[in-house]
Amino acid sequence: MSEGTQKKQEQPRRFQAIKGTRDLLPPETALWIRVEQTAHEVFGTFGFGEIRLPIFEPTELFARAVGGETDIVSKEMYGFPKKLEILRRATTDQIGQVNTPTKIHMFAQSLAVLVLNLEQALNAGEIPATESNRHLIGQLKKISEETIVFWRSLNWEPSGKWTELFGTASELIKNLEIERLEESFSLRPEATASVCRAYIEHNMNQLPQPVKLYYMGPMFRRERPQKGRYRQFYQIGAEVLGGSDAPAIDAEVIEMVMTFFERLWLEGVQLHINSIGDKNCRPKYVEQLREELRKVKDKLGPDSQRRIETNPLRVLDSKVESEQAIIEKLPRIAQHLCDACRENYDEVKRQLALRGIVYTQNFRLVRGLDYYMRTTFEITAKGLGSQNAVCGGGRYDGLVEMLGGPPTKGIGFAIGEDRLILSLQEGGKALGPQGRDVYIAWMGEKAYTAAIQAAKNLRMAGFSVELPPVEQKFGKALGQADKLGARYALILGDNEVTSGEWTLKTLATGEQGKFREPDLLDFLGKSEKRSE
Ligand code: AMP
Repeated sequence: MSEGTQKKQEQPRRFQAIKGTRDLLPPETALWIRVEQTAHEVFGTFGFGEIRLPIFEPTELFARAVGGETDIVSKEMYGFPKKLEILRRATTDQIGQVNTPTKIHMFAQSLAVLVLNLEQALNAGEIPATESNRHLIGQLKKISEETIVFWRSLNWEPSGKWTELFGTASELIKNLEIERLEESFSLRPEATASVCRAYIEHNMNQLPQPVKLYYMGPMFRRERPQKGRYRQFYQIGAEVLGGSDAPAIDAEVIEMVMTFFERLWLEGVQLHINSIGDKNCRPKYVEQLREELRKVKDKLGPDSQRRIETNPLRVLDSKVESEQAIIEKLPRIAQHLCDACRENYDEVKRQLALRGIVYTQNFRLVRGLDYYMRTTFEITAKGLGSQNAVCGGGRYDGLVEMLGGPPTKGIGFAIGEDRLILSLQEGGKALGPQGRDVYIAWMGEKAYTAAIQAAKNLRMAGFSVELPPVEQKFGKALGQADKLGARYALILGDNEVTSGEWTLKTLATGEQGKFREPDLLDFLGKSEKRSE
């Protein structure tokens, strides 16, 4: 067959991870495990307990907690479409045009799918299980079945019967009460909102206060992907909810993050702090800032110009080069704090000093949302280019109340785990490929039984063991052990099994020794200690 006539086999699609998401693979995941393990340990020593939260929540929770007008909520959230609403529209939109057999068939199919989904939603409690809804769904089901029977009978004629039938269907669909319960969900762009939701939902205000919780896991934001910025990224965060707002709490939360970073040997760590006042002093400052910004409006870029009116604090965040000199001269919140906020800020700084924590004050560190107040902080690290913030945090005393809970003090932070890992890798803290401790080179049926038992015992003692699934010649097995970076090869042939003396080869040196099984574990245990 010539090449031209040979029909090219269509290749099955090769899937790739969606833009902005990625796979984390070994050996890199070993570093992720170490980071997470260290977080569990360090946060545990500060009395924090882990909370595991859902990955999706009602869209409204984020709209309220993060702010409906923020980029995160207005542009970057991944929402699930309201399925019933879409199906309902897809069905009713066809009704006026059902005038040919094909269109009747299409309509009948849409209606059948809608009915199926309505029934499912009703049973799952996703739409109100009212008498009216049950009745309407029952009627719609009948029309759907009738339509299909008519269509199958092929005696279709343009008649008033269809118009009447579809008119009724349209009316029934209109009367369904589905919006009330069919809620819009979104993948979480952050977790503070969920922690507060859980605090309220589980009446945690009745526990001894404050409640100290931490979490870790993926977050989702549809941002422009670049180094250190992904659409699925990971955060490790903590929140202190309830009880007092003593400055020592703010300082201890910061101390906890700094201890965590220290334990990981993260390099170039810099802590920036600021106080953004409270609802007494901030509005006056914001007004003054706005007035000053209006005076220099012409010199600012379009984003900052817009923010003068919508959210002047955000102008302080600007990275636009030409705006930097202007921003330096703007009024600073530190000079406009009320007495209570100034005292609070001074005390937070004193408490940090007591803990030996070095910080830089950064008047440009602000938050755009009303319930954020007083302490805000950000931590940067080495090797991250423009996305160098590894942690952001602050106090948010009004948030729980805004979500329907009792007045509750709150402070927390979120660490960007992806960036933390990047910075550790840049600093040479990556872990190498994880070799096996022992490769068991076995030959013969009797040896295999002994090898299975040996693997079990070694693994129980915490060694990583590779037990080849099929017999190999010793030469090949040793080559394989080398490739896997094993430290030892345990050689088990029939001779070894009969004599009860096993051969252990140290792969780096080629040294060989004979051991009885109990002595082997002893030897490996000691050699592990020596190399630690
Ligand atoms: P935020 O919740 O925006 O205060 O972010 C807290 C931390 O999460 C930041 O300091 C970053 O380290 C990290 N972070 C935020 N967005 C992303 C992203 N798209 N990709 C990777 N890390 C992120």
